[in-house]
Amino acid sequence: MGTLPAGDEAIAPANPSPRPWPFRPVRLAELARKAGRLAGWPDLLFPPACESCGELVEENTNLRTLCPDCRQRIHLVCRPHCPTCGYPFFGEVEEGRLCPHCVELSPRFGEGKTLALLHGPLRPLLLALKYRAGFHVLGALEDLARRHPELPDFLAGAILVPVPLHARKERERGFNQAVLLAGIVSRVGGGRPVLPLLERTRDTPTQTRLDRRQRQRNLKNAFAIRKGVRFDPTLRHVLVDDVFTTGSTLNACATVLRRAGLKHVDVLTFGHG
Ligand SMILES: [Zn+2]
Ligand SMILES: [Zn+2]
Repeated sequence: MGTLPAGDEAIAPANPSPRPWPFRPVRLAELARKAGRLAGWPDLLFPPACESCGELVEENTNLRTLCPDCRQRIHLVCRPHCPTCGYPFFGEVEEGRLCPHCVELSPRFGEGKTLALLHGPLRPLLLALKYRAGFHVLGALEDLARRHPELPDFLAGAILVPVPLHARKERERGFNQAVLLAGIVSRVGGGRPVLPLLERTRDTPTQTRLDRRQRQRNLKNAFAIRKGVRFDPTLRHVLVDDVFTTGSTLNACATVLRRAGLKHVDVLTFGHG
């Protein structure tokens, strides 16, 4: 497995072996299903399997990529949680409590919300989307967002701004997962607008092995307002990304938005771990 792109270590497998056997049961079943669908065969021959545990997913479910057990095991994060990165506060919550995940971050955004913990079945869903163009998991991710009881309130009045990929990387990958996730959030929020307000101007080297300070240096001037895109700086803009890792990327984006005069910038991620 090669080096992971910036900010991706959070959803990388915990202990990647140097030469992973590529035909895990789930992937084999996925390939078979794809081939079967292309050939017009019914799911009976290659029934859908859970992306997380590999169990067969029952028919008549609209999810098809997550079994009911794994769906239940996704840990949705509700209040009380860290106001900056969204990580849940367990135990007693005192005022001014520091969060070990973002205590060193000087956030340039207001509130940070995360929908679920990356730990558990969410990680394989996001990995499948990002690295295997697994668009079949989008339904399960939308289901997760729809089940989150605090999301509708959080989205009130929000303009959604996906965290951009560099054009070269987006060409290579063929899509930007943050744009797809912003689309989900838009639907769940009853049609909140998605505005591709930012672009990534520097194709920064991978951040996986950098500490927080090196990441910040690495991201300096990496983002800019996209030329020709009109925006209203008085409205509330919410940056959308797949995972909250150190917050450096989101903070670099927020810094650019604030410099452009935006008063109210918040952050939403699908996973935190
Ligand atoms: Zn499962
Ligand atoms: Zn935090």
